[in-house]
This record gives sequence, structure tokens and C-alpha cells, in this order.
Amino acid sequence: MGLKVWINGSLVDQADAKISVFDHGLLYGDGVFEGIRVYSSKIFELDAHLRRLYESAKVLRLDIGMMQKKLAEETEKTVKANNIIDGYIRLVVTRGVGDLGLNPFLCEKAQIIIIADNIQLYPEELYENGVTVITACTIRNHPLAIPPQVKSLNYLNNILAKIEAIDAGVPEAIMFNHEGFVAEATGDNVFTVRNGIIYTPPIQAGSLEGITRGVVMRIAGEEGIEVVEKNLTRFDLYIAEELFLTGTAAEVVGIVEIDGRQIADGKPGEITKRLSKKFFDYAHGRSK
Ligand code: PMP
Repeated sequence: MGLKVWINGSLVDQADAKISVFDHGLLYGDGVFEGIRVYSSKIFELDAHLRRLYESAKVLRLDIGMMQKKLAEETEKTVKANNIIDGYIRLVVTRGVGDLGLNPFLCEKAQIIIIADNIQLYPEELYENGVTVITACTIRNHPLAIPPQVKSLNYLNNILAKIEAIDAGVPEAIMFNHEGFVAEATGDNVFTVRNGIIYTPPIQAGSLEGITRGVVMRIAGEEGIEVVEKNLTRFDLYIAEELFLTGTAAEVVGIVEIDGRQIADGKPGEITKRLSKKFFDYAHGRSK
């Protein structure tokens, strides 16, 4: 049996969930989205994700046309209708149907889509062995272009960086900003550890303000580990004692090699493993 997709105010069979070829989400990448996890039938950090969605939309002057509370309810409804226990939600808001010109204000109304599906979990070995990454040539947007904090339907910088990773035979690439400072990975935030202190780029360095990033920073604080937001360079990545990524899909995963440089002993570090476990327990509701 296929999924039930929420579109235009109702739940329809996935085969009937269709949008117009005149939708500006398709024609111009004009829209915003969120990727959200469901753990044990509970939506993880829904309010934080919705807040980011509405903030992204505000920057693009995209009127979602639905109150945040109502969108939360419809998202819950979609998860229930599909009996999702451990899964993934994709919330998409496009500018809607317009003409072939750029003018977004000629579009009738925003198109909201909610997809709730089961999740393909990352293999266990990935967490035990860590991942190898490269640094990408493709940079994040200049802050005067689409702000990098906006989770828009235009992911082409990240897609080009992802292609660089695939060409190099690795799962992820770390991207820099226009000043040469570390921003983030193509779909995850980046952290380093040195002398027992955790460092991560400030959001202004061109990263998305990851929900997982925020939770992991809070957990690290509770664990008594100092977290500092600071600009990082390629040098800082190469000489890190530990490196790890955080994201909705990946959760917390260690990096063990970058651009041919091994990190520490080539295994995920102690702090990475500790945070990975704490995050897992928190997400699965086994701790506060
Ligand atoms: N950066 C980018 C570019 C992303 O797409 C994501 C995934 N949404 C992240 C970081 C991690 O953010 P989050 O923890 O909210 O999934």
C-alpha cells in the first residue's frame, strides 16, 4: 500500500499527489522545506523545525497561508495516517502556481506538501567506523545572495559539492564560505574537538542553523563540555583531535579522514561517541 500524502488540505494516495508544471517551486526553485524525524511515533523538535520553515519563508516573502499551529496539526495527522513509528517527514512549501515570469506575487497561493515516510537508517558500521570526507571547491552562498540560513528549494551549491564527494568516492563534503572559513557539510553541520573543547562555525559563517546542531550543543553543555562558536579554517579541520557531523538524518557521526589526512587514530573520538550516544538516547526518549 502506498503512502498518503498531504497536499492541498487533504490526504491523498501518493500516486495522486501532484503539482502543476507552472508551480514556481519547480520553475524557479522558489520555496522552502524541512526534513524532520519521527522517533517512536513522536515528531522530533517539530516546533523548532516549523520555526525555521516560517523564518525561511519570511525572508523569501513567501506567505505560507496557514498558521504554524495548524501546520503542526496537519503534520501530526499525516504521520498518524501513515502509521509512522520511526520515520522521516518532508515538509515542502512552494510559491504555488504562477505564470512563466519571475514575479512571485502573481502566484495564486503557496502550495503545501507533507510527506511522511519510513526511514532508511544509516548502517551501524557508519557510526562505529566513522566517515571519510573531502573539502569541496563549491562554496556556500554569499550572505547577500540567498542567505545560507534559508532552507530553500535551491540546493544547487550543495548538490555540486555532493557531486564532488561522490566523484571522490566519499559520502560527504565540507563546504567553505566566500572568505575561506568552514561553513558546513552538504546536509550536516560540522564540529571539531581540540584540547577537549568543541568548536563549530558560527551560523554567520554560512551554515544552516541545524536543529540537531542546537540539541547537540545543549547536550554537550549538560555533559560539562565547553562548546565555542568560532570561525574555522581548513587547517583547523586537518589538525582536529576529533571531527563530527550533525544532522536530522545522520544524527551524530564521526569523521575519521579528510582530504587524505587521518583524524586522530582513524576511529571516531571519545567525545563524538559520547555525544552520539547521548543524542540517540535523547531522541529515542530514553533520557530527558
Ligand atoms: N546543513 C544543511 C545544508 C542541511 O540541509 C541540513 C539538514 N537539514 C543541516 C545542515 C542539518 O540541519 P538539521 O540538524 O536541522 O537537520
